[in-house]
Amino acid sequence: MSATGQRAFGRLDGRRAFVTGGAQGIGAAIAHGFASAGAQVVIADLDIAAGPLLAERIGARAIGLDVSDAATVRAAVGQHGPFDILVNNAGIDQHAFFTETSETDWARLIGVNLVGVLACTQAVLPAMQAAGFGRIINITSEAARLGSKGGAVYSAAKGGVIAFTKSLARENARFGITANCIAPGPIRTPMLEQAVATGGERLLRAMTEATLLRRLGEPEEVASAALFLASDQAGYITGETLGVSGGMGLGG
Ligand code: NAP
Repeated sequence: MSATGQRAFGRLDGRRAFVTGGAQGIGAAIAHGFASAGAQVVIADLDIAAGPLLAERIGARAIGLDVSDAATVRAAVGQHGPFDILVNNAGIDQHAFFTETSETDWARLIGVNLVGVLACTQAVLPAMQAAGFGRIINITSEAARLGSKGGAVYSAAKGGVIAFTKSLARENARFGITANCIAPGPIRTPMLEQAVATGGERLLRAMTEATLLRRLGEPEEVASAALFLASDQAGYITGETLGVSGGMGLGG
């Protein structure tokens, strides 16, 4: 801690963090980054095999959880909380034109990508408000800001997350709680690998060429943005969406 009471840049010592979808991909990199920075991390993931393995390796705890089930989320946060930092990272996508999607698809995509964010946020907020401190970091997508051919419902849910985050920022500033989004571009994770398995090399090329930097991002590049937003040094940033997308949307 410095004389002003701030932790050193990049440190989260003593902070308790709840990272959803933390068993693999971007969430795993965030959990790892936070644990390395000194935070006590709880990984919450559907995947009850990979979560504990990662947790053991990085000195975290893992719990099996479906973020779209609000009652289960409340019980888990009651048991394992309170938390200073929430990272709403769990997400699912689907590659299909909108006319090919069903109501079941809408419910599933919105249930995990948007309702899951609401459920986890409502579960952690009372303790953050009581403590007068909190950092909420929501992983949305550039698809929310740019649209996505073959990802209309996913984009709608992720756009909802951005609007929700701005409202959260407004309602919770007086409690010392910040709320921000990270909007990744194409990041090399199991989710992206699955999309490429369906869409093929053409999809991979299109995603790469949509970035100014002409490459995929790495999960660690998203994790470093999350670490910054969780840090003491980001205390004057709220209601924002930070793109980690190699300049996607600037013309390609
Ligand atoms: P990923 O590789 O599929 O990892 C997501 C993790 O979340 C998986 O471990 C998954 O478990 C878990 N999960 C899924 N549904 C869940 C639920 N209902 N409750 C709890 N955990 C759940 O995905 P990723 O690429 O790391 O993506 C992480 C976040 O970044 C997502 O919100 C995604 O939309 C966003 N994002 C990713 C990209 C990209 O290019 N990768 C781009 C933009 C935004 P299972 O494996 O058991 O399903």
